Amino acid sequence: MYAERLSRTRSRMDELGVDLLLLSVGADLPWLSGYRAMPLERLTMLVVPVEGDATMVVPRLEAPRVVERPEVFHLRSWNETDDPVALVAELAGAPRAVAVGDRTWARFVVELQARLPGARWTAASAVTGALRAVKDPAEVDALRRASAAADRVAAQLQAGDVPVIGRTEAQVSADLGRRLLAEGHAAVNFAIVAAGANAASPHHDPGPRVIGPGEIVLCDFGGTMPDGYCSDITRCVHTGEPPSELCDLYLVLEAAQAAAVDAAVVGTPCEDVDAVARRIITEGGYGEHFIHRTGHGIGLEEHEDPYVVGGNREPLAPGHAFSVEPGIYLDGRFGARIEDIVVATATGPDALNRVPHGLAVVEA
Ligand code: ZN
Ligand code: ZN
Ligand code: ZN
Repeated sequence: MYAERLSRTRSRMDELGVDLLLLSVGADLPWLSGYRAMPLERLTMLVVPVEGDATMVVPRLEAPRVVERPEVFHLRSWNETDDPVALVAELAGAPRAVAVGDRTWARFVVELQARLPGARWTAASAVTGALRAVKDPAEVDALRRASAAADRVAAQLQAGDVPVIGRTEAQVSADLGRRLLAEGHAAVNFAIVAAGANAASPHHDPGPRVIGPGEIVLCDFGGTMPDGYCSDITRCVHTGEPPSELCDLYLVLEAAQAAAVDAAVVGTPCEDVDAVARRIITEGGYGEHFIHRTGHGIGLEEHEDPYVVGGNREPLAPGHAFSVEPGIYLDGRFGARIEDIVVATATGPDALNRVPHGLAVVEA
């Protein structure tokens, strides 16, 4: 699998005229090598020339954690008194065009640029983004398991098993996080809990606000499974019966989200999926209150290619995995968002999240 990914990566480098790929911390490295580097101040770098052997440069103390894959890379560990940047420069030779991992510490990029003068530099996502965006069947299965685990937590929330009234947003957020772990995640990436007017802020930081009766509670949470793949889901609940104005808004949002999922057919440009959600929300009278793109790709990272956003003409391909998460936000009043992870397949869009989308009433 990794050897096959390496060969596709090299074809793409060839197409783009990139003769050297340098990967450090970030998800490109585990995708290509199976090794996830800790974000240390010590340099880890996979050096991939377009032709010839690839080398994983790692600090000696990290080397025992690296599973060597001779068909993909050889290991080269460095000691505390060595200069790892010099080692990478030596392995690099004199490249004309270098693609460097998007998450590489600037400190190392700056040093490498000084050691490799004359090279043209680009972000590695130009090489890897489109490749990583297309999931193979094992990756789709991994995303399905992650989504199912998140669904179990969402179902607990909708069933009223997660107490909300009388607790702070931060307490509910911590509770959702514990449940993500209990359902099989290895790490919690985020658990947004936004009540009442706070729900009008899409990335609200859950705080000390105590949740009361008669409020919408927007919950957007996700984590990373032990195999590295991510979940991400948003559902809203209401403490007691929602007012009719909110019900009307929510019906528009539900229709927009469902239509955008249905529109996620192979061959459809990403921006057209966004446009479907936006048109329905605009026709419902809330166009100016849908203030973000419709979705983002998901895989080893919670946000990656492809982005479901105006301007992205890229057509959906089988294996593209992404969120569909329109929202409507009324400043100072309330907001709502519904989010599913969807995979484009030859037989149509496959929504991995299966819990109901409606505004569940909890704790009257
Ligand atoms: Zn978000
Ligand atoms: Zn989300
Ligand atoms: Zn999302």
